[in-house]
Amino acid sequence: MIEGRCLCGAVQVRAERLSDGMSACFCTNCTRWGGGLQLALKSLGGVEVTGPVKVYRAVPFAERAWCDTCGSSLWLKDDDGPHEFCPGLFPNAAGAGLSHIVYADRMPDGLDFANVTDRVSAAEYERDNPFVPEGDMP
Ligand SMILES: [Zn+2]
Ligand SMILES: [Zn+2]
Repeated sequence: MIEGRCLCGAVQVRAERLSDGMSACFCTNCTRWGGGLQLALKSLGGVEVTGPVKVYRAVPFAERAWCDTCGSSLWLKDDDGPHEFCPGLFPNAAGAGLSHIVYADRMPDGLDFANVTDRVSAAEYERDNPFVPEGDMP
């Protein structure tokens, strides 16, 4: 089982298998809900979820879920489809790599990770920001 959790830990997620690849979507629903884009990791096996989950139906055929305690985005799911989990629930995105981009023609012109050379590591950021005393892991 692959285990994940929301920011506060109130929602626990377990999946037997997850896809090796993750998607990025730039449709209007995903960009507004996801804060810029929506990354998704499909479940390929049994899913167990515990905790205070809330859902919102932005379209008639799918739901989006979040933790009602901390607000973490959890998944999107078509009614007849698998859970498409937010990769951040799982350590190292469960080892998945970015495999495809949906609504790629709507990706903002300025969003290009590959050409950004100004990169700050966790250690560098935390060294320069001592108000983050224990790192970013609550
Ligand atoms: Zn939470
Ligand atoms: Zn989308």
